[in-house]
Amino acid sequence: STVRELQVELGARAYPIRIGRGLLDDGAGLAARVPGRHALVVTDRNVAPHYLARVEAALAGKSFGKLVLPPGEQEKTLARFGDVMAALAALGASRDATVIALGGGVVGDLAGFAAACWMRGVGFVQLPTTLLAMVDSSVGGKTAVDLPQGKNLVGAFHQPSAVFADTATLDTLPGRELRAGLAEVVKYGAIADPVFFDWLEANAEALLARDPEALAEAIAVSCAHKAGIVARDETEQGERMLLNFGHTFGHAIETEQGYGGLLHGEAVAVGMVLAARLSADLGRAPWSDTARLATLLERLELPVALPPGLSGDALLARMKLDKKAVSGALRLILWSGLGRAEVASAVPEADIRAVLDA
Ligand code: ADP
Ligand code: ZN
Repeated sequence: STVRELQVELGARAYPIRIGRGLLDDGAGLAARVPGRHALVVTDRNVAPHYLARVEAALAGKSFGKLVLPPGEQEKTLARFGDVMAALAALGASRDATVIALGGGVVGDLAGFAAACWMRGVGFVQLPTTLLAMVDSSVGGKTAVDLPQGKNLVGAFHQPSAVFADTATLDTLPGRELRAGLAEVVKYGAIADPVFFDWLEANAEALLARDPEALAEAIAVSCAHKAGIVARDETEQGERMLLNFGHTFGHAIETEQGYGGLLHGEAVAVGMVLAARLSADLGRAPWSDTARLATLLERLELPVALPPGLSGDALLARMKLDKKAVSGALRLILWSGLGRAEVASAVPEADIRAVLDA
């Protein structure tokens, strides 16, 4: 079957993103990205039974270790980061070591941060196994762990040397996780690509049914957008901020609910609808585009309204603490309509409260 390949253009640090069914069986392709003697595979207990053996086979002849973590965002901690450091030390890993992340965004963020820190930075390969990780977190070099005070508060920019997305791994991904990933796919249409948004409207059922061609196309288009934005603005000084569309609202919902509430992608779905509604309220965007966005997300079986029981005051307070806010003034990503996201500084609090209360 076809393998699609694109490139993240970062000069000497450029790297390939390969997308296709069965990529994990291409042992030589993976081995080529592990130049040194040592490799550590970081994965979790849900992913390991399905896919770890194939990665181990690709590393035959290397000195490699593996670390199989309990799954879930609550594991993205400094303590687990310490476990990865200990595993690298036990392996005798040197400067030429490679850390391989096999799993979703949690494994990728944690393993990437470890790769950024071990001996001040070693090689890193992303093998994303969730749709969210394939279209978003595995590309772009953001790595982090959480603190009790907030998500992703400790981290680094550390680009991988390759991203291999084996779309066959999505066969075992729970449906709710797949749909949460689709929210981030819709985001690319919403912020930058009205033609892709039309395509998503036409292919919503195929995506939900995990049609392999539809999924591969959605992943490839999403990665192309992500790769382009990262190449133009690696450290989020400008354009990369647009990727946070729906995220200031979404993070507030996630933090307010704690673990066990909405998944990240689900919270982003709600957040994008709130951002679109706020844009319309402020007269910056047509109401009809808010309706199209909400309708597509609903067809993808994603939530589009705040879950019950959340206080508007509490959410607003969380939004002010978001690390993307600059010194108290609320800076949000809004849009002027489908495909046209923009940074809005100093959004009046009263207008934000209005969409949180609606
Ligand atoms: P995300 O990629 O959404 O940030 P996680 O890394 O937490 O999230 O992965 C979401 C959940 O899906 C976790 O419980 C993880 O163990 C599980 N998972 C990841 N990839 C697969 C897969 N291909 N098949 C089955 N379960 C998976
Ligand atoms: Zn996100």
